[in-house]
Amino acid sequence: SLILGIESSCDETAAALVTRDRRVLAHRLATQEAAHRPFGGVVPEIAARAHVEILPTLIEEALAEANVSLSDVDAIAATAGPGLVGGVMVGLVTGKGLALASGKPLIAINHLEGHALSPMLSQPDLAFPYLLLLVSGGHCQLLFVEGLGRYRRLATTIDDAAGEAFDKTAKLLGLGFPGGPAVERAAAEGDKSAVPLPRPLVGSAEPHFSFAGLKSAVLRARDSGRYGANDIAASFQQAAVDCLVDRTRRALGDAPGATALVVAGGVAANKAVRAALTELAVGHGLPFVAPPLWLCTDNAAMIAWAGALRLEAGVTDGLDAPARARWPLDPDAERVRGAGV
Ligand code: ATP
Ligand code: MG
Ligand code: FE
Repeated sequence: SLILGIESSCDETAAALVTRDRRVLAHRLATQEAAHRPFGGVVPEIAARAHVEILPTLIEEALAEANVSLSDVDAIAATAGPGLVGGVMVGLVTGKGLALASGKPLIAINHLEGHALSPMLSQPDLAFPYLLLLVSGGHCQLLFVEGLGRYRRLATTIDDAAGEAFDKTAKLLGLGFPGGPAVERAAAEGDKSAVPLPRPLVGSAEPHFSFAGLKSAVLRARDSGRYGANDIAASFQQAAVDCLVDRTRRALGDAPGATALVVAGGVAANKAVRAALTELAVGHGLPFVAPPLWLCTDNAAMIAWAGALRLEAGVTDGLDAPARARWPLDPDAERVRGAGV
């Protein structure tokens, strides 16, 4: 089957055509980084307007690149949340319009499911169940991925997401926006043992993540005037990596039968993160799977891929599918622990 995927939940507008047998026939992406840079973060109103302007062009370009027309597509998969709801609506309504015009089914995709299944697109050998570290701009979770639609949340962050910590650190150090790649570049020029920084919750019996204390320590290190930005960036990155690895190591005990250790989301593009998780997996005799860099950060191929698996499972949505600002992958965990955790 052939799926058209649409993504517009944050500051990337994207369209892609992907087949069930993992062929990415086209993927087009427009980042709004330049538009948001003056504000040091994503401005929802600017994001929504930019999606409106560029999305139709990206869809046309993707269809042309794949040399197919809408009538060749089997379903239209659009991100329906979670994210900035104005942007989500742009992609979802566009997907609904195309579904209505073509008579093809609409599939409303959870953006987090897109990230969670993205490693399968580049790694055909990856099989359920797997332990997933989902590290992105808005989330930091450990999920036991048992099958399509079956995501058991083992841990989440009690304050900031991992990507958010990178973004805030970049802002504090004046490294620019978006923060993750900027911190990684600065860290390459710095000494990772130069600044003593905390590793919140490392060694803790509870499963969760915390990054707020690390961010505050970065602020204090900066204000002390004793350290250069590159050394702070390198020390921050190492502390964040140590937190991610420690929490993931702990979760391995809660993921019996996991076939692989998998990482996804924007922070999975970080080379230090990938290297440390590779080492952890090898130590536990597990294969390590990470998507190529372009599949880590937001894109429409992962949305189309999730759509391909949903279509195969016979799961499609009505044209009344809602756009959701919040949409947990594991509703049970949300109910038990309450909002925020
Ligand atoms: P979510 O998926 O939780 O809704 P999002 O879609 O904004 O949030 P992604 O696009 O998956 O998040 O990832 C973006 C995040 O990844 C940003 O916080 C960015 O700083 C971070 N990031 C991107 N590249 C790197 C890198 N090389 N090192 C560290 N962090 C990175
Ligand atoms: Mg982005
Ligand atoms: Fe994302």
